[in-house]
Amino acid sequence: MRPLELYVHIPFCIKKCQYCDFLSGPSSEEERREYVTELCRQIRTYKKLAGDYHVVSIFIGGGTPSILDAEQITGIFEAVRDTFAVDEDAEITIEMNPGTVTEEKLTAYRQAGVNRLSIGLQSAENVELKILGRIHTYEEFLDTYRLARKKGFRNINVDLMSAIPGQTAAGWEKMLRKVAGLRPEDRRVGRYFTEGCGIRTGAYFGV
Ligand code: SF4
Repeated sequence: MRPLELYVHIPFCIKKCQYCDFLSGPSSEEERREYVTELCRQIRTYKKLAGDYHVVSIFIGGGTPSILDAEQITGIFEAVRDTFAVDEDAEITIEMNPGTVTEEKLTAYRQAGVNRLSIGLQSAENVELKILGRIHTYEEFLDTYRLARKKGFRNINVDLMSAIPGQTAAGWEKMLRKVAGLRPEDRRVGRYFTEGCGIRTGAYFGV
Protein backbone atom coordinates (compact mmCIF):
# COMPACT_ATOMS: atom_id res chain seq x y z
CA MET A 1 0.00 0.00 0.00
CA ARG A 2 1.22 3.47 -0.83
CA PRO A 3 1.20 6.45 1.56
CA LEU A 4 -1.40 9.12 0.94
CA GLU A 5 -1.82 12.65 2.27
CA LEU A 6 -5.39 13.89 2.22
CA TYR A 7 -6.47 17.51 1.96
CA VAL A 8 -10.15 18.39 2.49
CA HIS A 9 -11.24 21.91 1.59
CA ILE A 10 -13.94 23.80 3.49
CA PRO A 11 -14.52 27.00 1.50
CA PHE A 12 -16.52 28.94 4.09
CA CYS A 13 -15.60 31.92 6.28
CA ILE A 14 -17.55 34.37 8.39
CA LYS A 15 -16.42 37.15 6.07
CA LYS A 16 -13.77 37.69 3.44
CA CYS A 17 -10.47 39.14 4.71
CA GLN A 18 -9.07 42.11 2.78
CA TYR A 19 -6.01 40.30 1.41
CA CYS A 20 -7.42 36.85 0.68
CA ASP A 21 -7.78 35.24 -2.72
CA PHE A 22 -8.18 31.68 -1.49
CA LEU A 23 -11.31 29.86 -2.57
CA SER A 24 -13.44 30.92 0.39
CA GLY A 25 -16.24 33.21 1.40
CA PRO A 26 -19.36 33.75 3.48
CA SER A 27 -22.16 31.20 3.26
CA SER A 28 -25.57 30.34 4.65
CA GLU A 29 -26.21 27.43 7.02
CA GLU A 30 -28.04 25.67 4.22
CA GLU A 31 -25.08 26.01 1.82
CA ARG A 32 -22.75 24.59 4.42
CA ARG A 33 -25.11 21.68 5.11
CA GLU A 34 -25.43 20.88 1.40
CA TYR A 35 -21.68 21.15 0.86
CA VAL A 36 -20.86 18.77 3.72
CA THR A 37 -23.47 16.24 2.55
CA GLU A 38 -22.02 16.29 -0.98
CA LEU A 39 -18.44 16.24 0.30
CA CYS A 40 -19.12 13.11 2.38
CA ARG A 41 -20.85 11.47 -0.57
CA GLN A 42 -17.88 12.21 -2.84
CA ILE A 43 -15.33 10.98 -0.30
CA ARG A 44 -17.15 7.63 -0.15
CA THR A 45 -16.95 7.28 -3.95
CA TYR A 46 -13.16 6.76 -3.54
CA LYS A 47 -13.66 3.48 -1.66
CA LYS A 48 -12.35 1.27 -4.48
CA LEU A 49 -9.28 3.41 -5.23
CA ALA A 50 -8.59 3.87 -1.53
CA GLY A 51 -7.65 0.18 -1.18
CA ASP A 52 -4.21 0.91 -2.67
CA TYR A 53 -3.32 3.50 -0.03
CA HIS A 54 -2.80 4.11 3.65
CA VAL A 55 -3.35 7.66 4.88
CA VAL A 56 -0.39 9.25 6.67
CA SER A 57 -1.88 12.71 7.12
CA ILE A 58 -5.18 14.55 6.83
CA PHE A 59 -5.46 18.32 6.60
CA ILE A 60 -8.87 19.93 6.87
CA GLY A 61 -8.25 23.43 5.48
CA GLY A 62 -10.08 26.39 4.08
CA GLY A 63 -11.60 28.73 4.39
CA THR A 64 -12.43 28.33 8.02
CA PRO A 65 -13.21 24.67 8.79
CA SER A 66 -14.06 25.62 12.38
CA ILE A 67 -17.13 27.43 11.05
CA LEU A 68 -18.74 23.98 10.65
CA ASP A 69 -20.62 22.60 13.61
CA ALA A 70 -19.35 19.62 15.59
CA GLU A 71 -21.64 17.08 13.89
CA GLN A 72 -20.53 18.19 10.43
CA ILE A 73 -16.86 17.72 11.26
CA THR A 74 -17.63 14.36 12.86
CA GLY A 75 -19.50 13.35 9.69
CA ILE A 76 -16.54 14.26 7.45
CA PHE A 77 -14.14 12.19 9.53
CA GLU A 78 -16.57 9.27 9.53
CA ALA A 79 -16.68 9.40 5.73
CA VAL A 80 -12.88 9.53 5.52
CA ARG A 81 -12.37 6.64 7.96
CA ASP A 82 -15.10 4.53 6.34
CA THR A 83 -13.35 5.00 3.00
CA PHE A 84 -9.60 5.08 3.72
CA ALA A 85 -7.23 3.15 5.95
CA VAL A 86 -5.90 5.90 8.22
CA ASP A 87 -2.62 5.16 10.01
CA GLU A 88 -2.87 5.14 13.79
CA ASP A 89 -0.11 7.74 14.00
CA ALA A 90 -1.37 9.88 11.11
CA GLU A 91 -1.02 13.63 11.60
CA ILE A 92 -4.56 15.00 11.53
CA THR A 93 -4.89 18.78 11.36
CA ILE A 94 -7.79 21.16 11.30
CA GLU A 95 -7.52 24.87 10.52
CA MET A 96 -9.47 27.20 12.74
CA ASN A 97 -9.99 30.88 13.30
CA PRO A 98 -10.63 32.61 16.64
CA GLY A 99 -14.26 33.59 16.96
CA THR A 100 -15.52 30.32 15.46
CA VAL A 101 -14.28 27.79 18.02
CA THR A 102 -16.24 26.35 20.94
CA GLU A 103 -15.47 23.77 23.60
CA GLU A 104 -17.98 21.42 21.99
CA LYS A 105 -16.19 21.65 18.64
CA LEU A 106 -12.78 21.01 20.21
CA THR A 107 -14.20 17.95 21.97
CA ALA A 108 -15.53 16.69 18.64
CA TYR A 109 -12.11 17.24 17.01
CA ARG A 110 -10.42 15.20 19.73
CA GLN A 111 -12.94 12.40 19.40
CA ALA A 112 -12.43 12.41 15.62
CA GLY A 113 -8.68 11.92 16.11
CA VAL A 114 -7.49 15.44 15.33
CA ASN A 115 -4.03 15.79 16.88
CA ARG A 116 -2.86 19.11 15.41
CA LEU A 117 -4.53 22.50 15.29
CA SER A 118 -3.60 25.35 12.97
CA ILE A 119 -4.89 28.65 14.29
CA GLY A 120 -5.09 31.70 12.01
CA LEU A 121 -3.86 34.64 14.06
CA GLN A 122 -1.95 36.69 11.42
CA SER A 123 -1.09 39.53 13.80
CA ALA A 124 -0.86 40.10 17.54
CA GLU A 125 -1.77 43.78 17.07
CA ASN A 126 -5.47 44.60 16.97
CA VAL A 127 -4.83 47.59 14.69
CA GLU A 128 -3.24 45.28 12.10
CA LEU A 129 -6.00 42.69 12.48
CA LYS A 130 -8.46 45.43 11.63
CA ILE A 131 -6.46 46.47 8.54
CA LEU A 132 -6.46 42.83 7.40
CA GLY A 133 -10.22 42.56 7.89
CA ARG A 134 -9.93 39.74 10.40
CA ILE A 135 -13.00 38.92 12.50
CA HIS A 136 -11.16 38.57 15.81
CA THR A 137 -8.90 40.39 18.26
CA TYR A 138 -5.63 39.17 19.75
CA GLU A 139 -7.46 38.60 23.04
CA GLU A 140 -9.98 36.33 21.32
CA PHE A 141 -7.08 34.38 19.81
CA LEU A 142 -5.65 33.92 23.33
CA ASP A 143 -9.02 32.59 24.54
CA THR A 144 -9.06 30.06 21.68
CA TYR A 145 -5.43 29.06 22.25
CA ARG A 146 -5.96 28.51 25.99
CA LEU A 147 -9.17 26.58 25.40
CA ALA A 148 -7.34 24.31 22.95
CA ARG A 149 -4.61 23.68 25.55
CA LYS A 150 -7.26 22.99 28.19
CA LYS A 151 -8.85 20.43 25.88
CA GLY A 152 -5.50 18.64 25.65
CA PHE A 153 -4.15 19.68 22.24
CA ARG A 154 -0.37 19.45 22.34
CA ASN A 155 0.49 20.25 18.72
CA ILE A 156 -0.58 23.75 17.73
CA ASN A 157 0.52 25.89 14.80
CA VAL A 158 -0.09 29.64 14.74
CA ASP A 159 -0.29 31.45 11.39
CA LEU A 160 1.23 34.92 11.26
CA MET A 161 1.69 37.42 8.45
CA SER A 162 4.49 39.88 7.81
CA ALA A 163 4.67 43.03 5.68
CA ILE A 164 1.25 44.18 6.82
CA PRO A 165 0.80 47.85 5.82
CA GLY A 166 2.45 50.01 8.48
CA GLN A 167 4.25 47.08 10.11
CA THR A 168 7.91 47.66 10.98
CA ALA A 169 10.73 45.16 11.38
CA ALA A 170 10.74 45.93 15.11
CA GLY A 171 6.97 45.36 15.27
CA TRP A 172 7.33 42.02 13.47
CA GLU A 173 10.07 40.92 15.86
CA LYS A 174 7.99 41.97 18.87
CA MET A 175 5.06 39.95 17.55
CA LEU A 176 7.24 36.86 16.97
CA ARG A 177 8.52 37.07 20.54
CA LYS A 178 4.99 37.53 21.91
CA VAL A 179 3.61 34.50 20.09
CA ALA A 180 6.73 32.38 20.66
CA GLY A 181 6.17 33.03 24.37
CA LEU A 182 2.99 30.95 24.12
CA ARG A 183 5.21 28.03 23.02
CA PRO A 184 3.28 26.75 20.00
CA GLU A 185 4.89 23.47 18.88
CA ASP A 186 4.94 24.29 15.20
CA ARG A 187 7.40 27.12 14.53
CA ARG A 188 7.49 27.92 10.86
CA VAL A 189 7.35 31.11 8.89
CA GLY A 190 5.03 30.92 5.90
CA ARG A 191 6.04 33.07 2.95
CA TYR A 192 3.25 34.79 1.09
CA PHE A 193 3.56 36.51 -2.26
CA THR A 194 1.53 39.56 -3.18
CA GLU A 195 -0.23 39.23 -6.48
CA GLY A 196 -2.45 42.10 -7.53
CA CYS A 197 -4.37 42.89 -4.35
CA GLY A 198 -4.36 39.26 -3.17
CA ILE A 199 -1.77 37.20 -1.36
CA ARG A 200 -0.78 33.67 -2.26
CA THR A 201 0.81 31.05 -0.07
CA GLY A 202 4.41 30.23 -0.86
CA ALA A 203 6.98 27.89 0.55
CA TYR A 204 7.44 27.16 4.25
CA PHE A 205 10.76 27.47 5.97
CA GLY A 206 11.54 25.89 9.33
CA VAL A 207 12.93 28.38 11.89
S1 SF4 B 1 -7.72 34.63 5.04
FE1 SF4 B 1 -8.61 32.78 5.88
S2 SF4 B 1 -10.28 33.52 7.20
FE2 SF4 B 1 -9.75 35.23 5.85
S3 SF4 B 1 -11.16 35.03 4.09
FE3 SF4 B 1 -9.25 33.96 3.55
S4 SF4 B 1 -9.62 31.83 4.11
FE4 SF4 B 1 -11.18 33.08 5.18
